[in-house]
Amino acid sequence: MNTAPLTDLLPCETDSPEATHALGRRLAEHLRPGDVVALYGDLGTGKTRLVKGIAAGLGIPETEVTSPTFTLVHEYRGGRLPLYHFDAYRLRRLEEFFDLGYEEYFYGDGVSVVEWADRIEPLLPPHTLRMHLEHLGGDRRRITWLPPSPKADRRA
Ligand code: ADP
Ligand code: MG
Repeated sequence: MNTAPLTDLLPCETDSPEATHALGRRLAEHLRPGDVVALYGDLGTGKTRLVKGIAAGLGIPETEVTSPTFTLVHEYRGGRLPLYHFDAYRLRRLEEFFDLGYEEYFYGDGVSVVEWADRIEPLLPPHTLRMHLEHLGGDRRRITWLPPSPKADRRA
């Protein structure tokens, strides 16, 4: 168990895919049932790479994790907690997320991680952890926390 505060993880810079993967593994040590991690950032900034690290940190076999671009969500079990990996890149309407039964995931017993989270902003719970990834040139990436969104789901 990692006792350092979660906020200490970021901001940070990574200089390789492996370093971003390692960040995901460290983040996973902090995650609890019902946590939602929202990932923001352009194509190729390392969102999927980070999710693979989170999966590894939860004890889910590495080889399984691929981006759910066409299915919206992949579920991974067999780790410390279930992992629900969303990719909203191709989402056209929020209704598609409702049809998926997203609340069962977000308010469930596993960890949800969402790539392209800006596409489902109104559906994100208030306790969502928001991470922004950006290109710094070459293999360098800057990863920061974003503040809670005023548009987040207000029910909880
Ligand atoms: P996204 O999901 O944000 O589109 P991916 O994780 O699929 O991004 O891809 C990131 C790409 O960038 C991979 O090809 C990876 O090897 C490369 N890369 C280079 N440097 C880094 C870094 N520091 N962190 C993450 N990925 C990196
Ligand atoms: Mg991706």
